[in-house]
Amino acid sequence: MRTGRLAFTLALAAASSLCSPAMARDVVIHAGKLIDGVSRQPRERVSIIIKDDRITGVEPGFVDKPGADVVDLSGKTVLPGLIDTHVHLLLELGKGSQVVNAVTKNAFDHVLDGTVNARKTLMAGFTSVRDVGGYTPAIVALKKAVASGEIVGPRMWVAGSIISPTGGHADASTGFDEALSKPEWTEGIADGPEEAIKSVRRHHRQGTDLIKIVPSGGVASVGDDPQAQLMTDEEIKAVVDTAHTLHMKVAAHAHGTVAIEHAAKLGVDSIEHGSFADADGDKIMKANGTWLVPTLTAGASVVDYAKTHPELLAPSVAAKALAVGPIMQANLARAYKAGVKIAFGTDAGVFAHGTNAREFELLVGAGMTPMDAILAATSSAAALIGDEADIGSIQAGRYADIIAVDGDPLQDIATLRRMSFVMKGGEVVKAQPSPAPTR
Ligand SMILES: [Zn+2]
Repeated sequence: MRTGRLAFTLALAAASSLCSPAMARDVVIHAGKLIDGVSRQPRERVSIIIKDDRITGVEPGFVDKPGADVVDLSGKTVLPGLIDTHVHLLLELGKGSQVVNAVTKNAFDHVLDGTVNARKTLMAGFTSVRDVGGYTPAIVALKKAVASGEIVGPRMWVAGSIISPTGGHADASTGFDEALSKPEWTEGIADGPEEAIKSVRRHHRQGTDLIKIVPSGGVASVGDDPQAQLMTDEEIKAVVDTAHTLHMKVAAHAHGTVAIEHAAKLGVDSIEHGSFADADGDKIMKANGTWLVPTLTAGASVVDYAKTHPELLAPSVAAKALAVGPIMQANLARAYKAGVKIAFGTDAGVFAHGTNAREFELLVGAGMTPMDAILAATSSAAALIGDEADIGSIQAGRYADIIAVDGDPLQDIATLRRMSFVMKGGEVVKAQPSPAPTR
């Protein structure tokens, strides 16, 4: 039994990260201010009681428990670990030429990059992510390595290779000489309901958690039109029915209004981007209980690239970025007012991993209240993932995934860019002030 008050120091973080997760531990966190991810009302001066990797209770006042270590966050605002429901840990656009990277980096390079990106994401306070597109064997391997504790990173729910029509957003061979090909470029291609069904079943066999489809064209891909619906309704329905039978959710990348409306009516669980949604699209999403994952940071980032480094982008991407990026924030403002359910997702990988919290500023800039933006990244994101019992709030029974910042994010949402404390599953992985990311 250990008793004592551990200082809030780097030493604690270093010691904890070396501790075996199997070691039984009682910890009490003294939180100066608590935003628990469920209540809209923050609480002052509370204690979070933790046993091993789970929260066992939240009590008023700063209490001590016999035998428990105390983590003093009495000067900070404490929140649940954040959740980003749209990342690509294996990718990073803007790091060198898109075309050169496509033909010089292989799946091994990407998975090694992924280990670094996973660490950056966790250190930024994101203790859970949904990875919505990356070569299936590579992303499943990364997920397993993080789950076993071999690699430092957030909890992961992964889609694997994106299911796409030939020439669609996730057909990475588009624009290249057809003689060039790699498994990861075409693994997710499925044309027709039969191939779509088989692809979903194969994903399930390979260990993915959800399915990602691309009903519309996209921005960071060659030649496909973001406004066009490129998957047929029959293909979308085949994916949704098969995935739901296997208890897998379906995330649908959709920019144009037709693809948004059709995918929502056909029962996808979330619309990713939703760039050109209009009032009718909002109504349909609301009526079907469809989540919107806005990815405003992706929109802002591709506009930045198109203006400053268009030479890094593949052909046609800069023009599409300038057309799509600027309208995303305005349309999110309308969807929010219309009452569409919003889950926090950034598309990290289109921009630098670890800067995910920029999305909060863009959401608040679009008119969301700081509390609603935080709820989108906590209990709402957990609901979209389908695991509210484990993540997304500070309540008894949940994993002890807990973060803290100096200052009050309800007054200044940008404080979430400066994560000073990160605990995942009861283990302190970060306990220091860190400089704000540059972007
Ligand atoms: Zn994406």
